[in-house]
Amino acid sequence: MNANENPRGRYNRYPDPRATEVREALARYVGVSAEQILVTNGSDEAIDLLIRCFCEPGLDEIIIFEPGYGMYRVWAEVNNVGVRAVALDEDFQIDVDAALSAASGAKIIFVCSPNNPTGNCMREEDILRLCREFDGLVVVDEAYIEFAERKSLVAMLDDFENLVVLRTLSKAWGAAGIRLGYLVADREIVAVMGGVKAPYNVSQADQEAALEVLAGGLDIAEIIKERERVFARIVELGFRAYKSEANSILFEGPESVQKKLEAGGVIIRYLSGRLRVTVGTREENEMFLRELEGCLEKVAFIDRDGVVLFEPQDDFQVDSLEKYRILPGVIEGLRILKESGFKLVMVSNQNGIGSESFPEEKFLLVQNRMIEDLRDGGVEFDEIFVCPHFASEGCNCRKPKTGMVDKFLRDCALDLSLSLMIGDRETDMEFARNIGVRGYRAELNSDSLLKFAKKITS
Ligand code: PMP
Repeated sequence: MNANENPRGRYNRYPDPRATEVREALARYVGVSAEQILVTNGSDEAIDLLIRCFCEPGLDEIIIFEPGYGMYRVWAEVNNVGVRAVALDEDFQIDVDAALSAASGAKIIFVCSPNNPTGNCMREEDILRLCREFDGLVVVDEAYIEFAERKSLVAMLDDFENLVVLRTLSKAWGAAGIRLGYLVADREIVAVMGGVKAPYNVSQADQEAALEVLAGGLDIAEIIKERERVFARIVELGFRAYKSEANSILFEGPESVQKKLEAGGVIIRYLSGRLRVTVGTREENEMFLRELEGCLEKVAFIDRDGVVLFEPQDDFQVDSLEKYRILPGVIEGLRILKESGFKLVMVSNQNGIGSESFPEEKFLLVQNRMIEDLRDGGVEFDEIFVCPHFASEGCNCRKPKTGMVDKFLRDCALDLSLSLMIGDRETDMEFARNIGVRGYRAELNSDSLLKFAKKITS
């Protein structure tokens, strides 16, 4: 009769503020003493609590790594604590020297391992060096550790009193809905934080459910197997994907893929030039992979002079309407490609447009006439890219370099196995190799385009 509760009701009593039973079960699972564990309302609460307990608003700063989990910054900003972001290196690993020099004077370094969204684990020796050489807290967020080959850093807690490990039931344990996270650290840290947290931060229902979940045991074999299968398939479809030790896979791709997938009923995360998909059930993954395959664009890259237009062999320039001639079969060939689902992309080197020898008007006269004639024939190029430079200018866009299509390629998901390049020169074939598609070498000023179109689509 000390807590003003109602004597009746399913949940009439306040929960154990120390979540003793849950802590004991977690202590057995993790292999530490229960005094080293603080149970929180999801590990997100632990992040907020760490910042509130150990940082002075308006004065102190934390260190985070990017790309990384977004909530460290959110909680710091909510608490008016500064954030210094340090970039991970190209393997998404920590540059320890850069981190330590950025961290001078900061209070907490947040390390996410396995990292969200990249999926990789940070090198243990790097984290331990941070613990040794940084005189604040090193918080290692192990939300995804059960999916990793690597062992938890909990084993190192006895060696480093500034090491804090965050864990959760939200991922491997399949219990994101009950909001139960925990922090494993030195007893003193746990005691300080226990005095700051809300007394009943984890409800009775959540504590009961957590005990049930823990008693049920871990079952992540299917997710790990599926992760490897989905990874292999994403790579097979031509995307650059990153090996994951978490339950998600990060791969390179444009936002348009995210949008198309969403329209098809599959929601994944777009993160500046990359896509992150969570591993689901086999059926969900199959649906994702099917939709992803449907996002791939079949593109026919086509050279202009010598393939679409007659290329004069004296000066190689089509700079007047007298010299202008569409080669035989071109319109029919383009139409065949279009009808069988190819995007048509013209890629043309035009020596020195805008120079005295080749004023822009002369180029445009011919180019616009070609576009009109093709349109009259019922075909249009989806994109036209022209390099206007001389070879001697050393630009990045002149074939066989790929500069003129780099942005186009970033914004679309190219189907590498079905896309192709038709050109009449070895540089065109080299361009094809550079973007990773098959090259078709046309016979100069012939009806090769039509022949190839028929062959490719038959
Ligand atoms: N840390 C990381 C790295 C996460 O990805 C997440 C969830 N997305 C969390 C912590 C928070 O998990 P919870 O609050 O559900 O324990």
